[in-house]
Amino acid sequence: MDELEAKAGSQRPKGYSDLSYPARNMRAMETTCIRLARSGEGVCGRRAVKVPERLCRYHFGEYLAEQGITCVGPGSDGEELCRRNVYTRRSRLCVSHRNQKAAGEELRPIRHTNPPGVKTPCRFPDCGRPAKAHGLCSAHDAQSRSGDGTLKPCVVRRPERRSTFYRVDGLKECGMCLRLLPEEEFQDSKHFKDAKMWHCRRCAADFHLRRTFGITIDRYEEMLAEQGGVCARCKQPETNGKRLSVDHNRKCCPTYKSCGRCVRRLLCHRCNWIVGRAEESAELLRNLAAYIEEWDEKLGWVDGVNLKTASATELANHAQTGPQAVWLKVRGRQE
Ligand SMILES: [Zn+2]
Ligand SMILES: [Zn+2]
Ligand SMILES: [Zn+2]
Ligand SMILES: [Zn+2]
Ligand SMILES: [Zn+2]
Ligand SMILES: [Zn+2]
Repeated sequence: MDELEAKAGSQRPKGYSDLSYPARNMRAMETTCIRLARSGEGVCGRRAVKVPERLCRYHFGEYLAEQGITCVGPGSDGEELCRRNVYTRRSRLCVSHRNQKAAGEELRPIRHTNPPGVKTPCRFPDCGRPAKAHGLCSAHDAQSRSGDGTLKPCVVRRPERRSTFYRVDGLKECGMCLRLLPEEEFQDSKHFKDAKMWHCRRCAADFHLRRTFGITIDRYEEMLAEQGGVCARCKQPETNGKRLSVDHNRKCCPTYKSCGRCVRRLLCHRCNWIVGRAEESAELLRNLAAYIEEWDEKLGWVDGVNLKTASATELANHAQTGPQAVWLKVRGRQE
């Protein structure tokens, strides 16, 4: 590039500044269409295919029509000739007739295009979507080109994407489940005009559960009801204000994600963490339990109270509030 420019510079006549010398962009201006744009505002500016005339493909056809050169293909609606603007001067055919000729077909009349705003429906029964190509909607056209080309009803996978959602009496419509819900059911978000997410909290949780653990929010709530809303092992409610964790077998799915088949029960964060840290080893946990019991016995701890070092009042308090077993032991020591 630099080398070329240096060479061009050396060939320039003396006395020419860089600005006055015909540059590459001048050449680009010469090769764009100079006719009025189809929208009626400004020049066309598309690439000129006819350089001396400086016309684009579309305006070249218009230019030839002004000179009486139009398509000689068969016309529709009783007309003898097609008379549309030609695509190439030599073939004397419009773009549709030229495509027919290129495909080796016999030239036939071109069907009239719809007036603006009127769309031909897809020719698949009960499809109802506007036709894009070959009389089919985009989905059915894709079906006809893939596989063996058999057409089946097209499935609308996602709900229609909308930028606004209905609001009625202070209720907002969830974009996923389409229910009308109070504002509190939507999480705050600075990314939206109304500072609320476009889907409800339950739908957000459902999305997370499906993606991470392969279960639905319905299954989660069913499990939660079965467990009475507490951890399946320690029977304590979750203390950090969050939902109970979904525990899964890490031998099946070693990461934080689950395939859905290995989901076990809902555990509190502590229990879930312990199981994960113990790497699913029942042997290790049994070993540790035995170790804790062994040392409690050696040091004299029973149910959270050290019977060897506790004061008399502590023992008395514990006797009233502690489990029956401790109370009996204490009484046994006092006698
Ligand atoms: Zn043009
Ligand atoms: Zn034609
Ligand atoms: Zn269709
Ligand atoms: Zn929802
Ligand atoms: Zn799994
Ligand atoms: Zn627990």
